[in-house]
Amino acid sequence: MPGLLSTLRAQPTAVDTLRRAIATDRVHHAYLFDGPDGVGKERAAFGLAQALVCERRLAGDSEACGECRSCARALPRAGEARPVHPDVVVLERGLYDPATIGRRSPETQDLSIDQVRTLVLARAAFPPYEGRAKIFILRRAEDLSQAAANALLKTLEEPGPRTHFVLLSSVADSLLPTIRSRTQRVRFAALPDGVVAELLAGQAGMTAEQAASIALLAGGSMATALHLGDPEASARRDEFVSRAMAAVTARGLEAGLALAEEAKKVGKEASMVHVETLAAAFGALARTTASNDDRAADVAVTRYAIALAAVRQLDANASTQLALEAMFIRLRAV
Ligand SMILES: [Zn+2]
Repeated sequence: MPGLLSTLRAQPTAVDTLRRAIATDRVHHAYLFDGPDGVGKERAAFGLAQALVCERRLAGDSEACGECRSCARALPRAGEARPVHPDVVVLERGLYDPATIGRRSPETQDLSIDQVRTLVLARAAFPPYEGRAKIFILRRAEDLSQAAANALLKTLEEPGPRTHFVLLSSVADSLLPTIRSRTQRVRFAALPDGVVAELLAGQAGMTAEQAASIALLAGGSMATALHLGDPEASARRDEFVSRAMAAVTARGLEAGLALAEEAKKVGKEASMVHVETLAAAFGALARTTASNDDRAADVAVTRYAIALAAVRQLDANASTQLALEAMFIRLRAV
């Protein structure tokens, strides 16, 4: 089995940076992995951790062996949120039972100072349990409470020997400047649609065609693709499209307004995907009617453009309900 780093797809810059650091024994003590969700940040973090704790990696190797006991224990097992290796520690809001981190209530708001104290500060002065290296991986580092972030600053700047931090965030610019300035940023890009389609077909057991059409909507994120590929999400999308199609040709505007109001509850992210799917449906309609009904094809093309414009508005942070209301009014006027 290869080391986890070598299984990362379509992130050559990030992987090269990490491999070089590992091979030259210059792994930074605090990284900030910056990029969208579902593009491999977490895989890279565990790959780095694996290389640092591997028992068989020789000087100059840029990769974990992937086979030794430490390599196996450095990665979370399928379905588990954290690995069993005592030197690979994951921090995440809500990951731990409150009692184990000295709290009475669950961490609903943020990654608390209690978690940072128990998992990081209490151990910072000690060498790694198994001698090689100690790695703290912070999922969604933007969840750090202000107190937790401040408590981390000193350790982040001068961690003990062979101690490393990897902060993961899809909104890295929202982290405190004091945190950002103490970390080395490694950027992760959105994945190409082809890579998403390929990974999705392999993981979710769908046909290549289904995977390709979902990949087009996933914005380069495997997390989004897997969510879109989920049968329930896909049923909700199909329902939105058929109701929206009916609302466009209905007598009154009520059905469209009702969908716009529901969209507010569904949320912006999901609504953007719904409207993108609607746009795709108009696009498909334009293609199928083009050969025998020019007028119908023109109408479908115009509606396709209107739906896409609504997606752009949502992306530019327009109100979900207002954007959908305006879209239905325009769609019906064609
Ligand atoms: Zn190993």
